[in-house]
Amino acid sequence: MAPPHVPDIHHRRRRWTQTVLPRRTAQACYFPANRGKNVNHLQTLTAICNLPTAPYREQLVVAWLLEWAKQRRIHVTRDGVGNVYLHYRRGKPFKRPLIIEAHMDHPGFVVKKQRRDGTIEAAFRGGVKPSLFEKARAKFFTDRWHPTRVLTVKPNKKSRFLDVTLAAVKEKLPPGTLGMWDLPDAVIENGLFKSRVCDDLGGVAAIVCLFEELLDQKIDGHVIGLCSRAEEVGFGGVLAACENKWLPKNAVIIGLETSKASDFAKQGNGAIIRVGDRTGLFSLGLTHFVTQAAASIADDDKHFKYQRALMSGGTCNTTAVTAYGFDATCLCVALGNYHNQHVKGDPGYGDAPKAGPGIASETIHTGDFLGMVGILVAVVQRFKTYTPGVDFLRERFHKLHRDEQVALFKTTPL
Ligand SMILES: [Zn+2]
Repeated sequence: MAPPHVPDIHHRRRRWTQTVLPRRTAQACYFPANRGKNVNHLQTLTAICNLPTAPYREQLVVAWLLEWAKQRRIHVTRDGVGNVYLHYRRGKPFKRPLIIEAHMDHPGFVVKKQRRDGTIEAAFRGGVKPSLFEKARAKFFTDRWHPTRVLTVKPNKKSRFLDVTLAAVKEKLPPGTLGMWDLPDAVIENGLFKSRVCDDLGGVAAIVCLFEELLDQKIDGHVIGLCSRAEEVGFGGVLAACENKWLPKNAVIIGLETSKASDFAKQGNGAIIRVGDRTGLFSLGLTHFVTQAAASIADDDKHFKYQRALMSGGTCNTTAVTAYGFDATCLCVALGNYHNQHVKGDPGYGDAPKAGPGIASETIHTGDFLGMVGILVAVVQRFKTYTPGVDFLRERFHKLHRDEQVALFKTTPL
């Protein structure tokens, strides 16, 4: 199987790693110290979730992934819109390549213009209620953070984004500079991971941790980690990949997400096999296969927890790829303060640092995250036995019928 078609964008890669992410910054701030053998997954999660990102401004995440892939000798390809494909191949190839997908963006600001007095005019891209912007603090990233605060916010009907003005900063911020909420770097307290962004850099981190496990345990398989762009503004990267046929036709896809926690999908109860989202339902056969992989871990480890639920908080990339005919399902972890929205009564309220009354760090449970990585490893280990569809269920029902039919036909209902 050939990797997805990739135009030559080498020049862009060089620019991103050398100019946008200074070497000193890359090494000193963003990489865990003990990467390599038996890398600490929570350090990887922390390093990746501390990266600045926004829709269409995923270049620092991309640069991190390229640097990591280089060090771990992972083959990387890109497509025409800059989605990142990480290729793991060892032993006999699977009949179908297994794609694990997560998105690299998160709702955030992008500078449109800086006025003479330093005031910032920015667009906010991604789903956050305008009322929650009140008295909120934000910060913009060049080679370091520049803190500021929101002055005004109003919807822009033409662009679907929000027009935001923010208090003056002294430094020059060129158009295109990305901004996020002024929240601290990630911390772990009582098993809760609190970060400016969990959605979906937590998913990207799970892909990296999966690859570390595959490398360290020398597991056979063919896995493609697809780190996609611009999900928060309409599934941009994944739709481009589907429309342009950049994904192998027979690929099987598992999307990784963080998804708003609820009473039936609580933080700390394990990773969630997501059977559907607000719009779609996912592949019955693949969802069952992933559930069985999770169950196999639980059989060996009585403390291992996982959940299975329809998470209707939003629509995700998995519905998009399902619509294009792919065999696909989703794994997620329950998210507190969904999209940084800090709303009384919602999961996560009061749990995390704030950037204003209505804005807080997102949270996920570290056990849920590690469980998601564990399930992915189990899926890859068993994947050579996977066949799409529900034949395996029909065979089981057929056997059930065969065993029971004599009794059934011989008895007469009262
Ligand atoms: Zn997401």
